[in-house]
Parts: sequence; C-alpha cells; structure tokens
Amino acid sequence: MRRLFEGRHAYVTRCLHCGHSAPPESSFFDMQVPVRGCASIAVGLRRSFEPSFLTGDNRYACGACGERRDAVRYQEVRRLPPMLLLNLERFAFDMETLERRKTSDAVGVSGSRGRPRPGRRRAGRGPARRR
Ligand SMILES: [Zn+2]
Repeated sequence: MRRLFEGRHAYVTRCLHCGHSAPPESSFFDMQVPVRGCASIAVGLRRSFEPSFLTGDNRYACGACGERRDAVRYQEVRRLPPMLLLNLERFAFDMETLERRKTSDAVGVSGSRGRPRPGRRRAGRGPARRR
C-alpha cells in the first residue's frame, strides 16, 4: 500500500539574499487541493504550488546569512506516487462568523466547472482509442 500512495515533497524556504535553503524532505500520502473559488481542480493544484513571499515582519531567519532576510516559500514535489490521492479542501474558516464553512460550489476537473458529462470528451484529451 505504502509503495502505491507514498510521494516525497519538501516545503522550501529560499533566502532571496544568498539563495540558501535546507528543506527537510518528507512523505505525503495525499495532496491537499484548495478548491474554494477555483474553477477546476487544475486551478486549485496550481494555487497550492504558488510561492509565497516572506517579507517585513515575516522575514526568514536565514542560517547562512545569520540575519532575517526576505525569502520565498513553496512546495516542491520530489517524487509522485504511482497513485495520487487528491483531497479537495471544501472547508474554510470564515473570519466574519468565526466558523468553519463548507463550500458546495461545483468544481470541474480540468478547466470547466461542474461534472463532466459521460461519453463526451474533448478532442485530444483522455487515452487514445484502440481500434
Ligand atoms: Zn541568506
């Protein structure tokens, strides 16, 4: 089981002054995909790999520089598992009501919202047909 679902990734924090980074690599068994406000799972996946910048009060304490520096932080997948489980994050914390809320918005697989209709595929997508 582990062999089928285990991937390896790292959360990299890279100093923008000297380029130093020492990300510990770890295992994952599913991938969290934020889907709130996303037209598709593909958009959510792209969002989860967007870098964030540590600046101002959030500057990174760089071990190489010995100072707090601006840095970029991102997730880096080192090895994908043979079977990738996607966990769609449908819950989000609402800062106005201070409650966890579930979104029931339709989320498409690859670009369009909603559930794909069976038997209808776009040209050039999906496995090649055998004759
Ligand atoms: Zn540095």
